[in-house]
Amino acid sequence: MTESFRAIVIGGGVGGTSIAYHLAALGWSDVVLLERADLTSGSTFHSAGLVGQLRSSVSLTRMMMYGTDLYRRLQDETGVDVSWHEVGSLRLASSGERLQELQRQAGWGRTFGLPLEILSTEEAHDLFPLFDPSGVLGAAFLPTDGYLDPSGLAFALAEGARRRGVEIRTNARVTSVDARDGRVRGVVTAEHGRIDADVVVNAGGMFAHQLGRMAEVEVPVVPFGHQYLLTEPIEGVTAELPTMRDPDRLVYFRPEAGGALVMGGYERNPDPWAVEEGPPADFNGKLLPGDWPRFEWLAESAASLVPAMGDAGMVRLLNGPEAFTPDGEFILGESDVRGFFVAAGFCAHGIAGAGGIGKVLAEWIVDGEPAWDVWKMDVRRFGPHYRSRGYARDRAYEVYATYYDIHYPGEERRAGRPLKVPPAYARLQELDAEFGEKSGWERVNWFRSNEDPAHEARRPRGWAGEHWSTAIVAEHLACRERAALFDESSFAKLEVSGPDAATFLQRLCANDVDRPPSSVVYTQMLNPRGGIESDLTVTRLADERFRLVIGTAFGNHDLAWIRKQLGDQRVHVRDVTGAFACYGVWGPCARDILSAITDADLSNDVFPYLHAREIDVGSAPCLALRVTYVGELGWELYTPAEFGASLFEALLEAGRDHGAVPAGYRAIDSLRVEKGYLAWGADITPEEDPFQAGLGFAVDLGKDFLGKDALVARRDRERPRLATLALEDARAMVLGNEPVFHGGDVVSRITSGGIGYAVERSIAFAYLPSPLPDPGTRLEVEVFGERVGAEIVGRALWDPAGERIRA
Ligand SMILES: Cc1cc2nc3c(=O)[nH]c(=O)nc-3n(C[C@H](O)[C@H](O)[C@H](O)COP(=O)(O)OP(=O)(O)OC[C@H]3O[C@@H](n4cnc5c(N)ncnc54)[C@H](O)[C@@H]3O)c2cc1C
Repeated sequence: MTESFRAIVIGGGVGGTSIAYHLAALGWSDVVLLERADLTSGSTFHSAGLVGQLRSSVSLTRMMMYGTDLYRRLQDETGVDVSWHEVGSLRLASSGERLQELQRQAGWGRTFGLPLEILSTEEAHDLFPLFDPSGVLGAAFLPTDGYLDPSGLAFALAEGARRRGVEIRTNARVTSVDARDGRVRGVVTAEHGRIDADVVVNAGGMFAHQLGRMAEVEVPVVPFGHQYLLTEPIEGVTAELPTMRDPDRLVYFRPEAGGALVMGGYERNPDPWAVEEGPPADFNGKLLPGDWPRFEWLAESAASLVPAMGDAGMVRLLNGPEAFTPDGEFILGESDVRGFFVAAGFCAHGIAGAGGIGKVLAEWIVDGEPAWDVWKMDVRRFGPHYRSRGYARDRAYEVYATYYDIHYPGEERRAGRPLKVPPAYARLQELDAEFGEKSGWERVNWFRSNEDPAHEARRPRGWAGEHWSTAIVAEHLACRERAALFDESSFAKLEVSGPDAATFLQRLCANDVDRPPSSVVYTQMLNPRGGIESDLTVTRLADERFRLVIGTAFGNHDLAWIRKQLGDQRVHVRDVTGAFACYGVWGPCARDILSAITDADLSNDVFPYLHAREIDVGSAPCLALRVTYVGELGWELYTPAEFGASLFEALLEAGRDHGAVPAGYRAIDSLRVEKGYLAWGADITPEEDPFQAGLGFAVDLGKDFLGKDALVARRDRERPRLATLALEDARAMVLGNEPVFHGGDVVSRITSGGIGYAVERSIAFAYLPSPLPDPGTRLEVEVFGERVGAEIVGRALWDPAGERIRA
């Protein structure tokens, strides 16, 4: 008889054992963990074991904080020694910019209640007297960080799972995954034959790519050799020294039992390993040969900071492979194959992350959705281009090689570009476009041809002024005063069609989308908890055909979300992103510009706001949508890709007489902030509902839709509400995650913001405790360690009544 379990977890590292532990904690004990060799014989056994909590995103930090809490109590709970040492962590600043980064992180940590302090060099030196203070400008100290024994952690998690009924099988190798008709049904193992389950979790670490392919799921992890060295005992090193990182020197340290130091780092020339063929079938309990030439620079850099290292002998250089990802984020969640989950690619912070990863995955499996917004880690974020191992490797290489660098806002990745280009690409280049990249698409950030030194005085202070141009101001103002032409061809476009398309979308969308053809509806799709899963426009093209337009980065997510909701309805969902170019023509002159090259009647009577028409513009057939993300009169024009270049030229030409300029995405962002429009993933996420975000106008409670019950239940509950803040310093630009103070207390963190160049204010969004304080209420926002006064203002600083968009 075939064995059957409720869930199978593949992989006996910290990832798999933590998922098994948390599934059992949620009451799923009919679970088997399959490990092809011994527990911890993948990347886990050779880990350095540092646990640091403060990370780049809210959810990741919360996951790390949860993990730390778990590690503190796990030994008492399971009786297994995890050697948790809560010694704290130091992060040194050896440059002015790094000190600013630490100050920013301290503010960020404060919004979580993390006791992160900025220390003077002397104070830091008191905690770790072995480092040479010359050249060190200060440090951040987080006393609740620490280190542990990675294998001990995996054994303890496995023991916790076992006690709650999970079966742990070692020497059980999965040789194939049975995935048919879009869902997983079980696995086949070399030792136990077939095992059935509706849920299979791929927690295969660096082997996750191979395991994924067994289910035809692309998991773009790339193994890299990661090295650290173990010194001989050094006088003054005790187990209670804090861990220490010096990102400017690319190195980290932790004490080892017996007075030795473990020292590792992120070299500039990392070593991808077994990328095409995958790690060998017998690669368990093994290491790669130490690569001293690659490590030497790091060792010297470390010795320049901790001179005693130069005198101490090296016991060994350890080179262990670890799964990195093309964007440095974990890969988590349910794949396109229903029931086939992934938890891999922990990028050398899987020990710190394991607790949170287990919690998130278990909730995802048991409840159908994770409780936290983990979109940045979602396996669905990758497009089909990540099937190329070369592309995945190049992207991961860049992330690894720049791991410790300061990443200024607006910084763009270089690897693997250009990949996807819009039809007018050559012309955009001629116009001196500064390109950025999103989801593989080349997109214009701004045009250098629009630069104007007169706007230099508006350059945001500090980091925000690094990747910035006066052209952004010029393009922003041109859009407000005359018109601007934006190439938005990368917008994700989905077509939903079929006899049940209207009822299907009506069930998915919170707004009423079952309106007559030519209607354009702004709406959100909600999850069962009432949180915002997607923010989009839905245009009805015909009775049974709809066009959905979504932000470039979220197309894959929304496509997967929509497909997941499909049952046996007669609905066809198609990604048509590359099939159409899209141009936004916005500004007070937009109607005049278009009228010069179309016979269509663009008057308010015939073509009102939030309507769509098939019109010809120049010689291009277009679907024109009267919508805007910048808060001005205008249209989005969608034309088949082959007409894209000529339509762009015609629009450029027609715009010239009206002083219109081609413009880029950075202007779109400042324009949307000024108008109070929100960005999914920052201002609105699966955790917030539309009422909290002030989007109640886009909810139709008169009909049934997914998430409605939860939404109604939470509507009157006390929960934070989104507010717009205007900062006193018009050049102090928020980057997101800054703490917000009211009466001396931290009350919130910034979700996003920017400078409204037309209203000449620096603007930011934040969720504040309900009821919202009155407009005019004084608050403070900590920007790079400095408190900047702010006041609560109405949602939109620009055209609050929306007269311009209906002009
Ligand atoms: C040198 C080094 C230093 C590090 N330092 C730190 C640190 O200081 N802090 C930190 O947080 N992280 C650190 N890490 C990262 C951390 O060790 C990893 O992120 C973590 O161990 C990965 O755990 P995992 O469960 O995903 O993978 P693994 O531990 O590799 O587990 C995956 C398991 O899946 C099994 N498997 C694969 N295929 C099959 C199959 N077909 N059937 C059955 N089983 C299968 C494998 O045998 C393996 O045991 C470091 C990593 C390295 C290499």
